[in-house]
Amino acid sequence: MSIISKATADQKDFFRQGHTKPYEFRLAQLKKLKKMLKKWEPAILEAVNADLNKSEYEAYTTEVGFLYSEIDDHMKHLEEWMEPIEVKTPLTHKGSKNYIIKEPYGNVLVIAPWNYPINLAFAPVIGAIAAGNTVILKPSELTPKVSSLLEEMVAETFEPGFFTVIEGGKETSQALLDQRFDYIFFTGSIPVGKIVMEKASKHLTPVTLELGGKSPAIVHKDAKLDLAAKRIVWGKFTNAGQTCIAPDFLYIHQDVKDKLLAKINKHIESMYGKNPLKNPDFTSIVSSGHFDRLTDFLDNGQIFTGGRTDRERLIIEPTIIDNISWTDPVMEEEIFGPILPVLTFENLTEAVDNLQDKEKPLALYYFGQKEKQQKFVTETLSFGGGCINDTLYHIANPHLPFGGVGSSGMGAYHGKASFETFSHQKSMTKQTTKFDYSIRYPGSKIGLKII
Ligand code: NAD
Repeated sequence: MSIISKATADQKDFFRQGHTKPYEFRLAQLKKLKKMLKKWEPAILEAVNADLNKSEYEAYTTEVGFLYSEIDDHMKHLEEWMEPIEVKTPLTHKGSKNYIIKEPYGNVLVIAPWNYPINLAFAPVIGAIAAGNTVILKPSELTPKVSSLLEEMVAETFEPGFFTVIEGGKETSQALLDQRFDYIFFTGSIPVGKIVMEKASKHLTPVTLELGGKSPAIVHKDAKLDLAAKRIVWGKFTNAGQTCIAPDFLYIHQDVKDKLLAKINKHIESMYGKNPLKNPDFTSIVSSGHFDRLTDFLDNGQIFTGGRTDRERLIIEPTIIDNISWTDPVMEEEIFGPILPVLTFENLTEAVDNLQDKEKPLALYYFGQKEKQQKFVTETLSFGGGCINDTLYHIANPHLPFGGVGSSGMGAYHGKASFETFSHQKSMTKQTTKFDYSIRYPGSKIGLKII
């Protein structure tokens, strides 16, 4: 039996024995997870730095800090979330009780990407554990230090029949996808998302797909430009633009373009210094393959600011590219790096019309003061989620489900949404045996029979 089929068989056994269902077990595992992260925190920050040159501050806030609050939120509400929900009883069902049980699916597979390699590995696991499932986690091979650390700390902390890490690249991922799971949670690119869905369809396994896309930041002429510039620079260049919800491109009203770009330039300098290539805290690009893909974009349009690169350290400085058209290669795929192309519009209705022709993005950011226009943009266009007058912030609120729509994904998680994602809602009718409505039986006369 291969390691993979043994791991899945062991987890199926563990689940079938009922260990994961009690509240006390789930709570204990969440506590263990938090304790494990605390214990290994220095090693985590070191591994994230080794793989991505992420600064300690950025790694803490975007990786472990996020997980601590997510675990706390789950522990605080778990008992309440697990409670069956009683629903109304229509006249036709008089005498019965009707309720929904939150049932764990069983054996869950989580496939994670490399860009927030700790956060995006464990955030879905928190929901899966809270909902009473067993978990196999496959981290990304592109962050190898993190991947082996995950394997080591999970093996030290958890019973493998309950939660285990299987390391490897696309072959391992595909071998895992050939197994029969009860739920698959995938975070990654659109092309691989399609493979996952196709493989899942063989067993009709439900999936959550957390994918990507080209998320616009629209800046209208009434926006508070300095604040917009600051928040766009932060949202775009955090993690060197390797964030699924980073603004992918700027779509600016032409009257304010020059002013906004000058302010963006100022904020890049104040956040990353005059020479970001020399900034020890600026995140690197994950691999030489991704570095080369990104530097090819630097030939598009005209560089407004940035553009310098260091291939040895895999660093690309924050770069704004002006004079871009919709058909340039940089506009044809998700950028996923510190390059921000600029397009302009004259009229908001036309801009929105134009965006409606594109795939539905994972995020959208609108900067402008007028409520009517804020509503027009955010209610006309379909996208996973987003912000008005900010970037990225929506992801950090545990009360907001996070996920894509259309080609940016399906399903959502974070907070209660995670618990719900990993729970099947089992609808139940508990019928009375005190009386029986005969109307439903063929040939019966209308009436009520007391038993
Ligand atoms: P990716 O799709 O290349 O890889 C993700 C995972 O899939 C990895 O574990 C990898 O080993 C595995 N994989 C790769 N090729 C595979 C194949 N052919 N068959 C089966 N498995 C395969 O994605 P990535 O490069 O790690 O991450 C970047 C992408 O992820 C971007 O598109 C980004 O927008 C998206 N992303 C989305 C979210 C979100 O929450 N929606 C978060 C982070 C990243």
